[in-house]
Amino acid sequence: MIRPEFLAILRCPVCCTDATALHVAGLREPSLACDCGAMFPIVDGIPDVMPHRVGEPAKNYRTETLDNVLAGTYDLLMPLMSATAWRCDPLHFVDWANMALGRAQGGFHLSLPISTANILRHSWGPHLDLQVVAVDSSWEMLHRAKRRLRRAKIDALLIRADVERLPFKNGTFASILSVNGLHTFDNRAYGLAELFRVAREGGTLAGSTLIRDQGRFAEWVLDRYEHYGLSPMLRGKHFVCSELAELGGKVSYESYGAVLFFAVEKLAETSAQHPSRLH
Ligand SMILES: [Zn+2]
Repeated sequence: MIRPEFLAILRCPVCCTDATALHVAGLREPSLACDCGAMFPIVDGIPDVMPHRVGEPAKNYRTETLDNVLAGTYDLLMPLMSATAWRCDPLHFVDWANMALGRAQGGFHLSLPISTANILRHSWGPHLDLQVVAVDSSWEMLHRAKRRLRRAKIDALLIRADVERLPFKNGTFASILSVNGLHTFDNRAYGLAELFRVAREGGTLAGSTLIRDQGRFAEWVLDRYEHYGLSPMLRGKHFVCSELAELGGKVSYESYGAVLFFAVEKLAETSAQHPSRLH
């Protein structure tokens, strides 16, 4: 059900150590099991590796609920909103995804959030040699992504997981793509640190995020996001870039309207560097 090469990169998000391996247990109702006793169900072939947060306060934001509602119209809404409210040609998303996939060079690639896999499908063509892992927290998005990846003959591992506790070993991925993910993370600092942890040395973390101060209509829409608690406070370009620089890699970026595209290269010997513009 889960290929051995994928099992080998997984780790338990409860005990959070690379020393313990997850293994598949159960035949009728399979799950992923850890030596620490944690069990994670596999639903329709998709492991649900979302750790229980017993004793932790409920999250403030309703991003997952919104994603479940949006899943049905996402493929229409995403390019439409991009071209109008965000003033960003949707083809930029495909260009940046192509760049990120190209940097994987046959290794493991992580897409988080995968959403409906529409970006991955459009940029997949030349990258047949990759091992693709696709993560989201929304079941609706994951089910749609699964159907789309199957139609495109992309043999990916889909996982429901929390970006703040990723179920992957350190240094696993040659490339990570997070399309419109940062502005949906409950805690951007934790999420970014986790993504960087699972990137390998020489690997790239790339993606896009919405940013503030880019026009009245975009600001009005983003105000509604915040008002209804749909995602955390969004920030301006320089604030986000300074957060990316704190990861300690080499940062490059460019922005179109209210969309910031970025790439952070994980250097062999990480040291903080200032961001530089591509254009
Ligand atoms: Zn464990």
